[in-house]
Amino acid sequence: MKPILELLPEELPGEGYRKAQIAHWLYARGAMDFSEMTDLPKGLREALAGEWRISEFALVEAYPSRDGSVKYLFTLLDGRKTEAVYMPYENRKTVCLSSMVGCPAGCTFCATGALGFGRNLTAAEILSQLLAIAHHQGISPRDIRNVVLMGMGEPLLNLGNVLKAIRTMLHPKGLAMSPRRITLSTVGIPKGIHRLAEEDLGVRLALSLHAPDDETRRKIIPTAHRYSVGEILEAVRHYYARTKRRVTFEYTLLKGLNDHPWQARLLAKLLKGISAHVNLIPFNPWEGAPVEGTPKAGILAFAEELRRLGIPTSIRFSRGQDVGAACGQLALKAPKALTFTPTLEGAGQ
Ligand code: SAH
Ligand code: SF4
Repeated sequence: MKPILELLPEELPGEGYRKAQIAHWLYARGAMDFSEMTDLPKGLREALAGEWRISEFALVEAYPSRDGSVKYLFTLLDGRKTEAVYMPYENRKTVCLSSMVGCPAGCTFCATGALGFGRNLTAAEILSQLLAIAHHQGISPRDIRNVVLMGMGEPLLNLGNVLKAIRTMLHPKGLAMSPRRITLSTVGIPKGIHRLAEEDLGVRLALSLHAPDDETRRKIIPTAHRYSVGEILEAVRHYYARTKRRVTFEYTLLKGLNDHPWQARLLAKLLKGISAHVNLIPFNPWEGAPVEGTPKAGILAFAEELRRLGIPTSIRFSRGQDVGAACGQLALKAPKALTFTPTLEGAGQ
């Protein structure tokens, strides 16, 4: 069986308007089985089912959180696991998708990093997360209007597959999403940022900076030994010059490491002249984490200092913490006691 989600809408099987019909079933109707595609001739449906699969998962488990978000744990066809989160807040249905199983970057504060690298996800496996969530929620995949690539993995180290998945998200016969509603979050791989700028897809970039100085950054982010803050910011400037998209800087506040007032001042100085927005993230603790979060008062003070220096700053309050659906917690097991939803019908064929 071949993964049909690897194909762009125009590459789908079938002659002429059959391609558009199949794309409509997959991305507008959320069909999980070819037998549902009732306006296709029976012979074609059977031929498709003999050659292609829709879902990339053997098992899909859902863990609803008290705050309305739902964490999804996917068992891939090779038995490995990856995760995503559904966030249906404020009339904006958002999914947080993974680009890998685990992550090779090994950031000290991140539970995914502690897992190490499993493997890259294919474009089909990235899209399949969104389709499985829509199916489970009983909505059209096209009702999901926002995607953040902030789940497991570093998207710029799997850029070919990530770009392919984004192309289907943007495609008018695919998910028909607006590029402004897709955010790619990266630990900061300059070559990848340059390539993304050249692709000029119009997606938003979020840069996980976490420290304004190389010395601190290297303590918490191993890839900072290879790429300096200066190099990363140069790539970000290029991204902005090319795309005119304001870049978000993510900054997880860690007690005694990156939360000093001088670091807020240095960050403000670095970002002067860059069209930037800082998103401060309270640390989400996980068992065995070697770092601690900055207490609330410290977070507010850091935000205040940045704002005073003219940097637009927000604080991201996490969702889904009770089921481990918050940033960097995806790798962790959700509590056993929570509702368990068995395999999706038609998944894993
Ligand atoms: N690899 C990419 C995208 C996935 S991580 C990246 O690093 O940007 C998504 C965001 O969650 C990043 O900003 C990351 O730094 C942050 N994060 C990871 N673990 C966290 C934790 N335990 N608490 C708070 N934020 C965390
Ligand atoms: Fe990987 Fe991002 Fe976690 Fe770092 S923060 S280990 S880059 S997923």
